[in-house]
Amino acid sequence: MAYDFDLFVIGAGSGGVRAARFAAGFGARVAIAESRYLGGTCVNVGCVPKKLLVYGAHYAEDLGEAQGYGWSIDGATFDWPTLIANKNREIERLNGIYGKLLTDSGVTLLEAHATILDPHTVEVDGRRYTAKHILIATGGWPFVPDVPGRELAITSNEAFYLERLPKRVLVVGGGYIAVEFASIFNACGAETRLLYRGELFLRGFDLSLRDHLKDELIKKDLDLQFNADIARLDRLEDGAIQATLKDGRVMFADCVLYATGRRPMLDNLGLENVDVPLNDKGFIRVNEQYQTSTPSILAIGDVIGKVPLTPVALAEGMAVARRLFKPEQYRPVDYAHIPTAVFSLPNMATVGLTEEEARAAGHKVVVFESRFRPMKLTMTSSLERSLMKLVVDADTDRVLGCHMAGPEAGEIMQGLSIALKAGATKRQFDETIGIHPTAAEEFVTMRIPTAI
Ligand code: FAD
Ligand code: NDP
Repeated sequence: MAYDFDLFVIGAGSGGVRAARFAAGFGARVAIAESRYLGGTCVNVGCVPKKLLVYGAHYAEDLGEAQGYGWSIDGATFDWPTLIANKNREIERLNGIYGKLLTDSGVTLLEAHATILDPHTVEVDGRRYTAKHILIATGGWPFVPDVPGRELAITSNEAFYLERLPKRVLVVGGGYIAVEFASIFNACGAETRLLYRGELFLRGFDLSLRDHLKDELIKKDLDLQFNADIARLDRLEDGAIQATLKDGRVMFADCVLYATGRRPMLDNLGLENVDVPLNDKGFIRVNEQYQTSTPSILAIGDVIGKVPLTPVALAEGMAVARRLFKPEQYRPVDYAHIPTAVFSLPNMATVGLTEEEARAAGHKVVVFESRFRPMKLTMTSSLERSLMKLVVDADTDRVLGCHMAGPEAGEIMQGLSIALKAGATKRQFDETIGIHPTAAEEFVTMRIPTAI
């Protein structure tokens, strides 16, 4: 049968754009539908605007620290609307670039919602298109638990467009988004409180790092409340929001941000028209080639709920494009050693196994830790300290995990992730000459184990 397209991609986010562009580059006839914003979550309400806000927030610390170096900053003020307006302008610029990237690659761009009608047919704006393959790359959407008064809360989507900096903010959740936004609001000057339902936030990260970040955030006057869960939210007469906790405590805020995870975006996608089952967490179930139970329908990125990070969606998009249209270049995505960073203030970043994971997996572990005051802060009144940690297998000497909290942790971890992927040993770390004076050189100068 002759199809209108070889590949129809639903969703022009990180994964969809990558798959569409590369498939078109390999000679396929490709269409992509996008209902909301070109570039998807990452570009519009995710990684990019988040990082811009983090940069903006960090100036609060930079300006304070500059005084130690002789700068006088009397009269410095901060204007949230300027930050948001400039961020919006930059995002609009990126939207344009994404549109151009797609059309320049020969992809047919349809800026509207797409619904799947059958294994080879998609409907967009009342028009039907047939395709040999349909790729679902529709991403995710914030999940807010069913708490009475939840309509009073915002999610990260709205946080990026707040017209004014709220005076008092309650951030609910203990994952990436909660910690990053709490850092942003706090540094920009809002009275910020983070409520997390468990003992300690950032579950899944190395325990030393989680503890360290907790201490650092407290030093920065961020109010951390663990074992705290909201029972209900109510609007008061003065416009404030009252949060009543399950333990009976009452807190007041001008803005309540829920950052309690994300669900797959399947709204009006038409999955009821095809055999595309979901897994037990509600994400689209795929095999290792990203095929659903209907072989012509594939899915990648956040909608499959495997590793919801942009570089992973990009890698999956690339793998699909290659497998379908350039099989000689196909390589499966390697999910081992995926580095990741939380852009809190200070940043934290990690690659490989945590100490707890390594021990649970049966490794005999040697741990190296270094805690120090970053050199740049020695002439300032900042009390911030950095932590670097290596988890090493005692039997093979292989470095199993690298963990860091401190300035530019993400930038430093990217290079280390190549070393771990290449199977580097602690001896090879030790034999590597440092770059002096940097913080990163600590990773190649840690000699005395702190735990075995
Ligand atoms: P998305 O980028 O979400 O794209 C899906 C697209 O599909 C959207 O544009 C949507 O409008 C469109 N769509 C949905 N349904 C339809 C339909 N039926 N028809 C047409 N179009 C449709 N990751 C990192 O690696 N680093 C970070 O620093 C980082 N920060 C983040 C910060 C926040 C606040 C959030 C929310 C996420 C962050 N992420 C980060 C995660 C990252 O944004 C996602 O992993 C990534 O965007 C997933 O890409 P995707 O292609 O799967 O989906
Ligand atoms: P996460 O899954 O990271 O964290 C969700 C948090 O919400 C957890 O602390 C979880 O607690 C808590 N939670 C879940 N359900 C409830 C509930 N019903 N009541 C109270 N608390 C609840 O999700 P995020 O929303 O922060 O981010 C989504 C994903 O986006 C991340 O996993 C990450 O992959 C990606 N992302 C990446 C970033 C980066 O790379 N820097 C930045 C932002 C997002 P518990 O731990 O107890 O389950």
